[in-house]
Amino acid sequence: MLLAIFKQFQSKNFAKLLVIQYLLNVMSKILGIIGGGQLGMMLTEAAQNLDDISKIIVLDPTENCPAAKVGAQQIVADFKDEDAIKKLSELSDIITYEIESGNSDVLKKLEENTEINPSPDTLRIIQDKLLQKQFLQKNGIAVAEFEKIENKEELNQMIDKMGLPLLLKTRRDAYDGRGNYKINSKSEIDDALDLFSGKTLMVEKFVKFEKEVSVIAARNTKGEISTYPVVENIHENNILRTTIAPGRVSETVRKEAEKIAEKTMEVLHGAGVFGIEMFVTSDDEILINEIAPRVHNSGHHTLQSCSTSQFEQHLRAILGMELGDSSIKTPTIMYNILGPKTFQGEYNVLFKKQDNIHLKMYGKLESKPQRKIGHVNIVDVENRGMDELFKQVEDLKKNLVIEPKES
Ligand code: ATP
Ligand code: MG
Repeated sequence: MLLAIFKQFQSKNFAKLLVIQYLLNVMSKILGIIGGGQLGMMLTEAAQNLDDISKIIVLDPTENCPAAKVGAQQIVADFKDEDAIKKLSELSDIITYEIESGNSDVLKKLEENTEINPSPDTLRIIQDKLLQKQFLQKNGIAVAEFEKIENKEELNQMIDKMGLPLLLKTRRDAYDGRGNYKINSKSEIDDALDLFSGKTLMVEKFVKFEKEVSVIAARNTKGEISTYPVVENIHENNILRTTIAPGRVSETVRKEAEKIAEKTMEVLHGAGVFGIEMFVTSDDEILINEIAPRVHNSGHHTLQSCSTSQFEQHLRAILGMELGDSSIKTPTIMYNILGPKTFQGEYNVLFKKQDNIHLKMYGKLESKPQRKIGHVNIVDVENRGMDELFKQVEDLKKNLVIEPKES
């Protein structure tokens, strides 16, 4: 008798489980990501842990890209390939991106049928540094003085007006400072214009900043906003090398930077995670350098320092879920691993394991000079303070070796 009741109970529960499973499958979404590099890879890994996403498809020109290596399906095509973007939208319920150079016009057309976050309108503003700065200025958010440049004469006039040094910047598709030329004297004008010939340009007053900081901010589709604590960024040769989380800034700077990030998210209207890069001057003035409409290198520390990583937060934001806890639980230094200048090709990583050091390689087949191939998060689990973490960074600089693979 008892057994019969138990069996009935079990089968009822089993049926319930089947229904729940079915509903989850119906409700869960196929996520399309434009770009399958390291950011797409870490988004894929976060998506694999969310019940709300059943499958991940990335669009990337490099066959077997990092995201595909960790289990995303891949469409092999250029990021701006209209047919490929259309195909991605047909296969996906929701589209996002890990690069800002996507084709916002094509995405705009597809928006009627497929949810796209951040929205193509937000992407269009951000992906053009001039439109982005005009937008921030219009909304009362401080940026360095800037101007559009169309020819040599205008550049000359701007040098007279703003003084030297001056930064000449390409308006679109720049990364790791490759679209920037610091003009120190008028004799460099021709070289600078030659380097960027055929590109749309702007100039920016050179900011003598004391520190570079950033805030990773999230806004979900319901308009709720959450910011991670401000972090400090150290660049080498224009490439982000080290992020210190939380940043070593005064309470006033911390509050102000986070306030600016919140205001930016309010006016931008986009859903997703955004990386907001800022300069802090010696008199604690804060200017936005630029916004990335995506997860950001200076947010990689969140994989270990926070209970919600920026990758999970991005997915929560675009899926309209409640945003996760963004407080830093353990101070962390993130250190980028760049390909050595000495070779290009397949490689081995030599690295001495330590409990509080988390190595994340991006699965790139080849190491290329000065390109990001991985990062480490050094986490202060024993509460020994930042100085100890910095010592470990110095050790790593000597002991983490990328060497060519013997064939
Ligand atoms: P990334 O991929 O690192 O975000 P990017 O190619 O988009 O870079 P920017 O962020 O505009 O380029 O600039 C790269 C770096 O150059 C900045 O982090 C900063 O160190 C320096 N820089 C940019 N603009 C200015 C400026 N107006 N004054 C002083 N330094 C600047
Ligand atoms: Mg930048």
